[in-house]
Amino acid sequence: ETTDAAALLLSRIRDVEDHPEPGVMFKDITPLLADPKAFAVLSDALAVIAGATGATKIVGLEARGFILGAPVAVQAGLGFIPVRKAGKLPGATLSQAYDLEYGSAEIEVHAEDLTTTDRVLVIDDVLATGGTAEASVRLIRRAGAEVVGLAVLMELGFLGGRARVESALAGAPLEALLRL
Ligand code: AMP
Repeated sequence: ETTDAAALLLSRIRDVEDHPEPGVMFKDITPLLADPKAFAVLSDALAVIAGATGATKIVGLEARGFILGAPVAVQAGLGFIPVRKAGKLPGATLSQAYDLEYGSAEIEVHAEDLTTTDRVLVIDDVLATGGTAEASVRLIRRAGAEVVGLAVLMELGFLGGRARVESALAGAPLEALLRL
């Protein structure tokens, strides 16, 4: 079932062929961000998920997870915590390494930003292989907090990210507003 909201969101995502490398169909959300109605629809939908999961904090994944997660945090009255690529956060961090198709990557969070009483909803724009999302779930747990869900604007189903993330989420929901 395609709702009006989903149709609006989908219409504001631009496919860019062969970016950032040949063979990748890049999902560009900048037209959506530039449309205040579509951005508000997106933020509202994510805030509903935040409410349903009983989240106490929003974690956004660098970089587009910051843009999508921050208005949701404000709207839902929750704190916003950035998970950044290694080397960017100035304070004491926890880090989590994960494998990419070629090589590896590392993400970090400020250790003091999460506690054992926190219930975290993770937000990002696109779920592709699920590697980034899976690593973020592990990182947040190691910081002592509970992950109550992961919400993305768009899931690229053919890459198998859902299975990978669901196994890390251990029963918490993976919500995708659009599935491609
Ligand atoms: P992955 O770890 O493979 O799930 O990749 C997820 C991260 O890479 C997300 O933070 C996305 O922003 C970005 N990403 C991966 N594939 C795409 C794509 N086709 N279009 C836009 N962003 C992508």
